[in-house]
Amino acid sequence: MAIKTVWIEEGCIVCNACDAECPDVFAVTDTSSTIKASVRQDGKENENRDEKSPLKVELQASLAAGIEAAAAGCPVEVIQFEKL
Ligand code: SF4
Repeated sequence: MAIKTVWIEEGCIVCNACDAECPDVFAVTDTSSTIKASVRQDGKENENRDEKSPLKVELQASLAAGIEAAAAGCPVEVIQFEKL
């Protein structure tokens, strides 16, 4: 299994659980979780809600389990992703 794209919908309560579960992908600011620039094809660091920038191709398989675990652990279910 691989994940092509991950983003954060509105409503993050800044609990830091995703950052703890999968720090390679998620970075939590004062207002929302974000998808790190280092894993995105567009190199931006924000919620990736509008851009829906894909993950770097070489990371789409290796990051999938961590992203799924983080999404399952998010108390408000705002971590969304699209599988390949
Ligand atoms: S687990 Fe969910 S609510 Fe918590 S910081 Fe991450 S995206 Fe926000």
